[in-house]
Amino acid sequence: MKLKEKASFDNLLKEVVERKLCNRCGGCVSFCSADRIGALEMGKDGFPRYANREKCLECGICYLVCPQTHNLREEVREKFGWSEPVGLCQDVLSARATDPEVQKAATDGGVVTGLLLFMLESGLIDGAVVSEQTGFFDRRAVVATSREALLSAAGSHWAETSHLEHVGSEYSTYVSIIPTIRELAPKSVIKLAVVGTPCQIEAIRKMQVLRILPADVVTFAVGLFCMQSFALNELMEKEFARKHQMDMRDVAKVNIKDDFVLKMKSGITMHIPLDEVETIARPACLACVDFANVYADIAAGGLGSPDGYTTTLIRTIGGKRVFTEAVRRGYIEERRGEGRGKGREAERAERARILGLIEAASEKKRARGEKRLSQLKA
Ligand SMILES: Cc1cc2nc3c(=O)[nH]c(=O)nc-3n(C[C@H](O)[C@H](O)[C@H](O)COP(=O)(O)OP(=O)(O)OC[C@H]3O[C@@H](n4cnc5c(N)ncnc54)[C@H](O)[C@@H]3O)c2cc1C
Ligand code: SF4
Ligand code: SF4
Ligand code: SF4
Repeated sequence: MKLKEKASFDNLLKEVVERKLCNRCGGCVSFCSADRIGALEMGKDGFPRYANREKCLECGICYLVCPQTHNLREEVREKFGWSEPVGLCQDVLSARATDPEVQKAATDGGVVTGLLLFMLESGLIDGAVVSEQTGFFDRRAVVATSREALLSAAGSHWAETSHLEHVGSEYSTYVSIIPTIRELAPKSVIKLAVVGTPCQIEAIRKMQVLRILPADVVTFAVGLFCMQSFALNELMEKEFARKHQMDMRDVAKVNIKDDFVLKMKSGITMHIPLDEVETIARPACLACVDFANVYADIAAGGLGSPDGYTTTLIRTIGGKRVFTEAVRRGYIEERRGEGRGKGREAERAERARILGLIEAASEKKRARGEKRLSQLKA
């Protein structure tokens, strides 16, 4: 393992935060708070900072788990079966949740929420770390332990949510109440699914490689495809917003597929080229190289599927088991149409079409990220 000598949070501040590469995933803070060290916290600006420098043990783990330090890459790839060009892939298809309430609340086909519902109601997980909308532009990470909570968190929120920091603090809370929980259910062990962008899932996988808290409670990772994230309110400043006299309060739904899609309450749909939205992407996102969430158990996005369906990339054996069972139990249905159910040849062609789109998007993002990183080095 390439553990940098004496790398600590000071190195992380210098190499990642000050270079504007921090994506605010909260990974560094989550270890420090889950292990009760408490040297770090997420600041009001959304970036990590010292809460109490005196408490820092200089263990260097915050540096190791950060997805932007690019260490442990070989170890993570080996453990999670990474392969060219888009990571492990057991199957790729379009699907949707069968529940009309999920379909209505979801960004695409609601596969993510449908899978979480299945896992929760079958007892495979005790809860899921999701991102709940608390206001028009505000959201926060929560551990959803009920159908209602999962439904209210469905849909995509475009700015980053520091999920991992929440896993850490939730875990700490859980630990502090363990004696009580044990009294009620002596053998209970907390099992969480996490929904996250590629950077968040990578930080979790790094923690799992290092076998450190709080990643031991994460038993399933649903990864979202991600080209970039940004603050919706900054869109208002854009030329096209002025041109179309657009008010973000009139937006009913947002999505990214080939382009950025805004569905207005009036019924009008606007398509904005991704290049335009790129100018308000977080600097860290422009240096990020993972589109297809290569270390997730199941990755999901809109790219390649018609409206109302989620492109579902089943990566691990665990992912395959969960997806197959969710279909068998009626939570999820595969799209029957182009390809699926139309014979082996047609299925193969449809699978190749979707994979081709994912590969092209992954390549585009990788090239953009590498260019940006080399500019930063220069
Ligand atoms: C920042 C971001 C960028 C994306 N970029 C692309 C893209 O370029 N191309 C593409 O094809 N798809 C992209 N997606 C994925 C897409 O928008 C859908 O989330 C995906 O298709 C799953 O749809 P669904 O209907 O199955 O999910 P749903 O059933 O609606 O569930 C979505 C789940 O994701 C959680 N969530 C929402 N926002 C966040 C967030 N910011 N961080 C962590 N979890 C969150 C929700 O709480 C919910 O649990 C992006 C998503 C996000 C959040
Ligand atoms: S104690 Fe370890 S994880 Fe916490 S800030 Fe210091 S080096 Fe980082
Ligand atoms: S672990 Fe996440 S929050 Fe911490 S410095 Fe790295 S990118 Fe930023
Ligand atoms: S583009 Fe990369 S850094 Fe930005 S939110 Fe997506 S996965 Fe994270």
